[in-house]
This record gives sequence, C-alpha cells and structure tokens, in this order.
Amino acid sequence: MEFEWDRIALQLAKEIEEKIIPLFGTKKAGESVGTNVSGDVTKYVDRVAEDVILKELSPLGINIVSEEVGEIDSGSDYTAVIDPLDGSYNFYTGIPIFAFSIGVFKGKKPVYGAIYEFLTKNFYEAKPGEGAYLNGRPIKVNDPEPGKESLSFYTRGRCMEVVKKVKRIRVLGAIAVELAYVARGSLDGVFDIRNYVRPTDVAAGVLLVKEAGGIVTDESGRDFRVELSATEKTNIIAVANERLLNIILEAIKNEP
Ligand code: MN
Ligand code: MN
Repeated sequence: MEFEWDRIALQLAKEIEEKIIPLFGTKKAGESVGTNVSGDVTKYVDRVAEDVILKELSPLGINIVSEEVGEIDSGSDYTAVIDPLDGSYNFYTGIPIFAFSIGVFKGKKPVYGAIYEFLTKNFYEAKPGEGAYLNGRPIKVNDPEPGKESLSFYTRGRCMEVVKKVKRIRVLGAIAVELAYVARGSLDGVFDIRNYVRPTDVAAGVLLVKEAGGIVTDESGRDFRVELSATEKTNIIAVANERLLNIILEAIKNEP
C-alpha cells in the first residue's frame, strides 16, 4: 500500500494544532499526568497531542514509534517515528518555540520527514534525494564565514571552548525546531552530547538537514543513524559544514 506522507503529516500537524494551541502557556498544559515509556514525566499537553496520533494513525495499519506510547508494531513495512510536540517545556511556559515532528521509514530506510512549527505555520519537508523544502520552496544550509557561525548546544557544561569559536549562541530548547533551522540556514549547527536525545526528536530533522546539504553525525563524527526506538538515547551533531563539525569534534576530543 502506498501512502501520501505529505498529506498525512500536514493533516496530523493541523489536528494537533487545533487541540493544543488553546493550551499554549497555560498551567493546565504543564500538569503531570503520568510517565512515558522512557520514564519521563508526561505533561497534559503531551497526552493531548499523542491522542491525536493514535486516533489518526492507527487506522492506517503502519508501525508507530512515538514519544509517549512507545513502539506499536503492526507488522507493516512502514514505521512513523513521531514526536507529537517537541519543546513541551517551551509550550507550557509560554515560549513560542515548539513543533510537530514525523519521520517515516520503509524498513530501516528513511522515506519522508516533516516538521511543523505550530505558531509560524512553517512546514518543513524532505525526501531522500529530493532536497528539503519550507512551505514548498527549496531550502539550503547556510555557508557562514569562519567565526561568524551561530550555534546551539547541549553539553551539561562540557565543550565550552566552542563559545569562543563562533559568533552567536542560540539555545532554543526544541531540537526538532533547531534541526529545521539548520536546514533552512537560520542556525549553522546544533549538537547535543548529553545522551538525552531520542529518535523521536530527530527522525525528521536528520533527513531535513542532510537533504539541505548539511552534515549529521554522532559524537565521534560517524554518519548519524536513526534507530526505530522510542526509548533509545543518543548524541547528535548537525552542522552546515565540515569546518564547524571539526570545531565540535575537536572540542569533544579535548574533554578530559
Ligand atoms: Mn522531543
Ligand atoms: Mn515531545
């Protein structure tokens, strides 16, 4: 069976949007309602967003890997790796940086990725070999001059030397959004080496950055592979160019 992933992704995003936007910045959104498969606290808004995923995707018979419910194996060739709301903390504290993320795989191969920023209504998409797009228009990573880069990073205090080697630090608190920003050239790189990022956070963003001409690796510089798991934790480096990758890898190597 063939699926129109672009239509499915946008429809899911719009339905989540309808349900969650009235909760933006509210106490209610941030109320704890349980724990997810990774043992993290589930907030009310996460539950609301996840319910949409289950209701809309279950009838398609595809496998689902999602942040709150975990892995649902339907025996399908296709697996959708989803974060219904990346940036929940931003959402319930009223910071307008959060997004829906979906990466679709046939077997283990990526076939489609999309990120939707609810407030700007920016819809980012990528297919392997076909480039990356923002609202239907092609996007590319930036080509910053040395020393002029803007970078986001999550290191728990490690690798602070990178601060001196770039111009701007932008830590936005939603890795899916930050990956989309690297793909469109608003950020030149983002890395998270806390062993904290899950496949659900980055499944779409990895494809977007690669298709926009960027580089995505693990903490040792090896090509990043998305595991079809809701609980696995990983490290990620996504950058516009080799030079910035080397600055980050060097900083990691220099750590005691
Ligand atoms: Mn997330
Ligand atoms: Mn989430």
